[in-house]
Amino acid sequence: MPSISSKGLTVVGRSLRSANCHWLSAKPHDRFGPPKLGTPVSGCLMIFLAISLIATAATEKRLSVYSTAANYSVPIVQRQGHDYIGILELLEPLGTVSAKLEGSRWRLRYNNVLADFMVDKIRVRVQGRDADLPAKFLLENGRGLVPVASLNSLLPRFLGGPSTLHEESGRLFVGNVATYFTASIAVEDSSHLVFHFTSPVNPMVATEPGRLRMTFAHDPVTSPASPTLTFSSKAIPSASFSEGNGAAEITVATTTPLMATFSNDGRTITLVPAKSPIPTVAATTPANPPPQMGSPAQQPAANPSSVPRRYFAVVDASHGGSDRGEALSPTLAEKDVTLDFARRLRQELESRGITTLVLRDSDANLSLDDRAAFANTTHAAVYIALHAASSGHGVRLYTCMLPNHNGSDSGPFRAWPTAQSSSIPLSQTAAASIADTLKKIQVPVRTLTAPLRPLNNIVTAAIAVEVAPPATDVSALVSPDYQQLITGAVANGIMAIRSQLGAAP
Ligand SMILES: [Zn+2]
Repeated sequence: MPSISSKGLTVVGRSLRSANCHWLSAKPHDRFGPPKLGTPVSGCLMIFLAISLIATAATEKRLSVYSTAANYSVPIVQRQGHDYIGILELLEPLGTVSAKLEGSRWRLRYNNVLADFMVDKIRVRVQGRDADLPAKFLLENGRGLVPVASLNSLLPRFLGGPSTLHEESGRLFVGNVATYFTASIAVEDSSHLVFHFTSPVNPMVATEPGRLRMTFAHDPVTSPASPTLTFSSKAIPSASFSEGNGAAEITVATTTPLMATFSNDGRTITLVPAKSPIPTVAATTPANPPPQMGSPAQQPAANPSSVPRRYFAVVDASHGGSDRGEALSPTLAEKDVTLDFARRLRQELESRGITTLVLRDSDANLSLDDRAAFANTTHAAVYIALHAASSGHGVRLYTCMLPNHNGSDSGPFRAWPTAQSSSIPLSQTAAASIADTLKKIQVPVRTLTAPLRPLNNIVTAAIAVEVAPPATDVSALVSPDYQQLITGAVANGIMAIRSQLGAAP
């Protein structure tokens, strides 16, 4: 796919090519500068740093495409008063496609289907049958542009099956890929609203006074029979479905602040009253609003059991959703490995009596600010971010190297970029303790400092654990034995300084 964009592209399936990693690593140093003091920071971690940079990329009009082969998006351009799309870019993720110009005839081959487009004409011939486009076919620098409005009639001729264009909202469904949902008030508690989806979903969740909004940019979520749903609940009177700008949106009206919890592999979302009102998040974390955050009250996905419990440790499976992290091998994405390690570390910590929350317990998209804000609201004693890397051996333990302090703490508030400052000694103690337990079992370990987000935004002891394979075989990262060896040692390292961590203010 040539049209990789920070906004649009979630490619599943064969056109993956670790696009995320390569593209992101193109400019990691732009703003943060090179790592200081010769700190060796792995590629994956630099990508991690760069992620916040792309959030501000300009929005352009795009068509989101959902199919069994891939979910992706392609740019829409305006020509002569019509919306146009590059037909090659549209078809490429779906099959084998090529094109060549013969005189004024642009010949397109998609798998075994041949089509002739006439430059600046509306007539097109697909598999020997003529059809008319609603506006002229355009050729720009070898790029064939067709009107978006033609896709409903044109695509089935190429694909041999139905496709449904939602032209107004910029969404195209190829084949039977739609995800449907139901919404109902929980029988046992009328303040809980339960959504069931026919496939796993991964929305961005944002809250504002009076409503919670779930935006599905990468999921083919489709309207229920009626776009407005009403409930017999005082706390949650109604919800509505809408779509636009390449995404679907469910807006839930509420009289009380809600948070979203994911279960059933992302097929169930339960909205429950947030234990503490949203504003307390701000009171314990940023004095300044977090930078580059879509909404200051965005809430990350959390384990449903997180609502009533207090946690000693928060384990963050880094990356997730459309951020796949490093492509550890052609088939192994870092985001999946970090989730494995996170769940196993929780098991190891819980078995030692340390209550643990896995911050990303699904394939959710979470911004670094989301992660920090959520970790801070749990008031846990220690935050552990997990990364995986294909290069090097053993474990690298990172504590935070703070960005230049602006002295902007005010009263009880900590400046968001330097929230970690007073916890750095404790973070280093935690890293040293874990390094000791790893050395005891002969795992190569290095302890490093790096300007690594979101560690700097965490108010409590915070470390990042980056796990590399023991030898050259990357697949060891998914071996249960290796995962257990590492997470067991990390858990022992935490245990060893538990009272120090617990005593921290
Ligand atoms: Zn990583």
